[in-house]
Amino acid sequence: MSEYVDVAIVGASPVGAHVASTLRERGFTGSVMIIGEETIPPYDHPALSNAYMVGSISIERVLPRDRGYWDRNNIALTLGVRVTRLDSEHATLTLDDGRRIAFGQCVLATGETVHRLAYPGADLAGIHTVRSLADVDALRAALTGIPVGQIAKPLLN
Ligand SMILES: Cc1cc2nc3c(=O)[nH]c(=O)nc-3n(C[C@H](O)[C@H](O)[C@H](O)COP(=O)(O)OP(=O)(O)OC[C@H]3O[C@@H](n4cnc5c(N)ncnc54)[C@H](O)[C@@H]3O)c2cc1C
Repeated sequence: MSEYVDVAIVGASPVGAHVASTLRERGFTGSVMIIGEETIPPYDHPALSNAYMVGSISIERVLPRDRGYWDRNNIALTLGVRVTRLDSEHATLTLDDGRRIAFGQCVLATGETVHRLAYPGADLAGIHTVRSLADVDALRAALTGIPVGQIAKPLLN
């Protein structure tokens, strides 16, 4: 049996977050659910490639809303699950954990993906892409032991 929400937003992204916040700010009282495959609430990207990368700010500083905001505003965050099917005829989403969500309206806020170079060696260990918070955390881990001053200057310039 499907759970029903008035507005289902696919993508716990900056755009998804903005849509949900705007609905509440403008007085929408129906049910709103954001569904995202990442495990953290929506976050902003600009600081990922500089201040967050070099460890000078915490994760809380890249969250546009404090963690309690979503509950306070009755916006359901369904994180760590991927939408695998959108059935527009029956207005239903299928999630990769087997759940089905029926919706009144659906907003696709699925954003962008990394463009990987199709060159030999592009998939070797040590080649990183920077798109998500998880990508940046992996790069930070790989840079452990390198003095911050040596990596901060090119990243911050
Ligand atoms: C390091 C970095 C720095 C940046 N700096 C700037 C800047 O200074 N200025 C600027 O204007 N822009 C910047 N950008 C670009 C900006 O971050 C993007 O334009 C913006 O994030 C796009 O937001 P979005 O809401 O469209 O989607 P995204 O941020 O791409 O988020 C989409 C979300 O949807 C999720 N998703 C996708 N498919 C599914 C699915 N089927 N089921 C569930 N979830 C799904 C993804 O996992 C992701 O969490 C930067 C980007 C990066 C990576």
